[in-house]
Amino acid sequence: MIGDIMAISRLRMGTDGKGVSTLVIFFGCPLNCKYCANDFCHKSKNISESVPRGAYTPQELIQVLRKDDIYYRMSGGGVVFGGGEPLLQSAFIHEVCKLADPNWQMRIETSLNVPWECVEPLINDMDEWIIDIKDMDPIVYKKYTGVKIDNLIHNINRLKELVDASKFHIRVPRIPEFNREENIENSVKWIKNVLKVEPEVFDYFRSVEVPEL
Ligand code: SF4
Repeated sequence: MIGDIMAISRLRMGTDGKGVSTLVIFFGCPLNCKYCANDFCHKSKNISESVPRGAYTPQELIQVLRKDDIYYRMSGGGVVFGGGEPLLQSAFIHEVCKLADPNWQMRIETSLNVPWECVEPLINDMDEWIIDIKDMDPIVYKKYTGVKIDNLIHNINRLKELVDASKFHIRVPRIPEFNREENIENSVKWIKNVLKVEPEVFDYFRSVEVPEL
């Protein structure tokens, strides 16, 4: 089994949860967010460009992750799977988790907008689910991401029955020109009602030019 990995960023602090972490960034994403900061994760857009690619077996990736074992243990950190959309490669991540030291914290950064079959393999593997929900209004969501919100809602409703609420870190972005304060308030309310957690509201910064709506 091979992981299609775009980059591995070691010795991160203060960006991906508690402690020192290694961020593993995967290729591929089903969304097309207008302000995507990692647009080169979309293979189809750069298939002919010389984007560096990394193909790792689970054993090879573990060898890289073990280099910082002492930092993970001393700081309460571990591994963060991001992207792109890491859940598209959940079978690979599951194999990595089986090989990982149980003292490492395992976290995933996801939009959760994938078929449920991509979520299921990792239910018992993750210590934290960092979910960027974009916006819970279906029209705003579709305008911003280019895809329907249905998978996200379905997956949140199933995941909350299987994962303790303390493992959820939900992020609600302010997206310039796409959602307004009332949209953000509605998203926060929905998260509080459904997941019983306080989401983190944060600002997206417009990094690319987008056509007028
Ligand atoms: S979910 Fe993330 S990687 Fe995917 S298109 Fe949106 S910003 Fe880019």
